[in-house]
This record gives sequence, structure tokens and C-alpha cells, in this order.
Amino acid sequence: MKITLLGTGTSVGIPSLGQLGWGKCNPQNPKNNRQRCAVLIQSNNTNILIDAGPDIKNQLIGHNLPSLDGIIITHEHADHISGLDELRPFYFPKQEKINIYTVERTANFLSTRFDYLFNKNEKSQSYFKPPMNLNIINYYDEINFNDIHIKTIKQHHGVIDTIGLIINDKFAYCTDVVDFPDDSFNKLKNLDTLVITGLRSTPHIAHAHFDLTFSWINKLKPKKAYLTHLSPDSDHDSVLSICPDNVEPAYDNLYFNI
Ligand SMILES: [Zn+2]
Ligand SMILES: [Zn+2]
Repeated sequence: MKITLLGTGTSVGIPSLGQLGWGKCNPQNPKNNRQRCAVLIQSNNTNILIDAGPDIKNQLIGHNLPSLDGIIITHEHADHISGLDELRPFYFPKQEKINIYTVERTANFLSTRFDYLFNKNEKSQSYFKPPMNLNIINYYDEINFNDIHIKTIKQHHGVIDTIGLIINDKFAYCTDVVDFPDDSFNKLKNLDTLVITGLRSTPHIAHAHFDLTFSWINKLKPKKAYLTHLSPDSDHDSVLSICPDNVEPAYDNLYFNI
């Protein structure tokens, strides 16, 4: 089973528009070019996407996926949902609705912002068919897609909670998190691979900063950990130089097998 980190940047990406640009990141290092966070999980016959931010078309186009078997949305922030509309072509061949999985709060947000993806109304063109279906899950639910087994956990992300995911009891993806309920944290212990928020050096109200992330990793003891959702303050090589032995900053299109 192949895991690909399609994007590893914070909400504005790196480089960002405007004066922020590359921030403190070295533009000469391709690993500093970071699109918005998303993950592709692929087994022999199943493709699952986690999040669909504004870069999602360009992130997926080179993977030549014939279909998507499910999309899990971790939370409703724009950097995780703005590209949802771009996934409509997966509906076209068989006119089978694309299944979105998320918690009720995020589902309500999506059905307001992207009403046309889920509902036909009096302003819809006559030929139009809504291409997506919302499936509401609860934190700690488990979802199976053929041989891909996903356990969900609750994570704290400032004023909202987000979904963390544990795949086949080997790999966990924990983005947009600043604190964990104990029930969630305990499920993350002793995994093979952990991909987890490491925004920048200084504390942030909604995202773990490096020291906090390193302290979690020290307790969770994954064999390997990668930092994601990096900010323009976080130059790849500078971050790598402060990482413990089994930790490194992720980068776009990093992949590994589980
Ligand atoms: Zn985010
Ligand atoms: Zn967020």
C-alpha cells in the first residue's frame, strides 16, 4: 500500500502570494516548494484521498487515477476543502457519486459552501447531476475501503476539532492539531510511520510547533516521523538540522509503503 504526501505546506502554501513569498525558506531547494496538505492512499485496486485543498487538481493529475473510492475531509478550513469541486470528473464515467466522509459539523459547512455538489435546486441546469454524496461519521469511527482500514481519532485544532487517521494500524496522519484527547493520543503509540503537524519554531494557537511535536513523538515512539503543514518560516534544511534522529520534515510527493 502506497502513501503519497501530495502537499505539506501551511494554508497559504510556499511560496505564498504577496510579500510573504518564500518567507525564510531557501527558494533554491525544491523541497521548500509546498502545496496545501493532502494525502493519497493507494492499494492495488483502491484509491482514497485525504483532503482536497486549492492545489488538488495539480497534485493528482500526474497520478492518472481512474477513480477515487472515497475522500475523507479532516476539517472545513479552506486549505483542506477549497478544491473539492475539482474532483467532479471522477463522477463522469459511470455517474457514480463520489463519497465524502467527514464529521457532521464539517459536512454542514460543505453542504452550504458547495451546495451544488450535493443537491440539485431550481437554479441548476437541466442536465446537471450533483456528483458527490456526504457520509457523516463520528470521531473514533472505523471505515473500511476494501483492504484499506481506517481508524479515525479526534484532535484539537484551536476552536475546532479535526479528524486524525490511522491506516491499517501502521501509519497515522495527524494534521492541523495542537492537542489530543488522551483516547486519541494513546492510539498513536508505537506505529511504523507518523505524519504530524510541525508548523514552525514558535507556538501557535491551532498548530503544534516543533518542540511540542517533538515531545509528542518522544512519547509516541513511531519508527519514523515526518513533519507536515510547514509554514514559510520553516526552511527544510533548517528544520532538518533540529530534528531528532527518526524525524524529518516531509516534502511534497514524498511517498512510502506500509
Ligand atoms: Zn490546514
Ligand atoms: Zn486547519
